[in-house]
Amino acid sequence: MQTYDLIIIGAGAAGLLGAGTAAEKGLKVLLIEKMEKPARKIRISGKGRCNITNTKQHDDFLSHVYPDSRFLNPALRNFSNFKTIEFFNSLGLKTVTERGERVFPESGKAWDVAECLIKWAKKTGTEIICNAKVKSLNIENDKICSVNVDFGNCEKIIEAKYFLIATGGISYPLTGSTGDGYTFAKQAGHTVTDLRPSLVPLKIKNHNTQLNKLQLKNVSLSLYVDGNYIDDEFGEIEFNKTGITGALTLRLSRKAVGAVIAKKHAELRLDLKPALNCEQLKNRIAREMQTVKTNHALLCKLLPQQMLAVFAEKANIKLQNRITDTDVEKIINSLKNITFDVSGFNGFDEAIVTAGGVSLKEIDSKTMKSKIMKNLYFAGEIIDLDAGTGGYNLQIAFSTARLAAQSIVNRN
Ligand SMILES: Cc1cc2nc3c(=O)[nH]c(=O)nc-3n(C[C@H](O)[C@H](O)[C@H](O)COP(=O)(O)OP(=O)(O)OC[C@H]3O[C@@H](n4cnc5c(N)ncnc54)[C@H](O)[C@@H]3O)c2cc1C
Repeated sequence: MQTYDLIIIGAGAAGLLGAGTAAEKGLKVLLIEKMEKPARKIRISGKGRCNITNTKQHDDFLSHVYPDSRFLNPALRNFSNFKTIEFFNSLGLKTVTERGERVFPESGKAWDVAECLIKWAKKTGTEIICNAKVKSLNIENDKICSVNVDFGNCEKIIEAKYFLIATGGISYPLTGSTGDGYTFAKQAGHTVTDLRPSLVPLKIKNHNTQLNKLQLKNVSLSLYVDGNYIDDEFGEIEFNKTGITGALTLRLSRKAVGAVIAKKHAELRLDLKPALNCEQLKNRIAREMQTVKTNHALLCKLLPQQMLAVFAEKANIKLQNRITDTDVEKIINSLKNITFDVSGFNGFDEAIVTAGGVSLKEIDSKTMKSKIMKNLYFAGEIIDLDAGTGGYNLQIAFSTARLAAQSIVNRN
């Protein structure tokens, strides 16, 4: 039987960073990955560009983290978003900061981020094995002594002093994140809070499929739950076959999903002209009416063609009719406020992250050590932490993994 100082389950963002950190300090580290190559999720992140992190200040960063950002505080202080940038730059991966303070590799290739991390982890002496699936933990006297690993053609028991579970969540399961880590955590006596898809497209009641694939830029979308304002976002949305997606919608989705699960009435209100108030819109329409006479001609000046029929129905006007004062009022009201009832949300296979996970109450936030099992640590998306879009989720993985690995090094 082989023995290691540290076994890390899952070679994603957290697993790779944790492995390199511990191996660099001389620990004998084995990183076990069930897919054919590590870091599949990083490779598809940020639409293939990988939004590695961002340059938000500490408190601003934490304000985007759920359900309890205080838990991340020590890990982020220890390995901040700025340290992440320095870290990648020191490995030769140049980065650029874009709109919204989001940081990407200069090459624009997520693949480069994955390869850079793997190369570094290997250079530190980490042993990485792929196509190897951890099936279960072997526990004796409140300690994990080994893991059972399925290599496809054979099974092995591998021992270590410490174990770090970095198996990610259950979103985009084709990347390998199928939730195995939750089973291991439960086996070790941990509580796993309710799992929900987050940063996920929302389904709309009586959705009109004519809108499918329509993209709207510079719009504002607000979420109301049981009639109460919850949040709003400005940017881009896209309609799909069942509802709405796009960066804006994804950012509102966590709270919308929560409302749907709680069986509350979630409603999205779309402002198609957020830069103009009603008075300014009225003036704009008055100018357009010098050359156009029908509702159809007027709306062609204001909206994409694909939206006209749905808009007319929502505004309760007839497209072919000549414009009346009442129609102008209805048009203005609808331009500023089209409502969509949220009827549900898409599944984990389309969710950027998993909300919920190993309970924060059972992990020491200063070390990432399990409060239940003596030699067990957690890092990354498996923990009950998630955040909005903008490089936060990868940073959570990096910060928690760095802290976990350093804590193990200090104990060894
Ligand atoms: C489409 C998409 C785009 C995204 N874009 C961004 C972005 O631009 N910026 C950002 O900050 N976040 C982004 N995210 C979220 C971010 O990628 C994840 O939060 C982050 O990768 C989680 O890292 P992790 O290491 O915890 O888990 P993962 O990256 O999921 O890695 C877990 C690894 O564990 C392995 N594993 C699981 N079970 C076992 C087992 N039994 N045995 C062995 N190995 C196992 C898996 O195969 C996987 O490789 C995106 C997510 C998706 C799905």
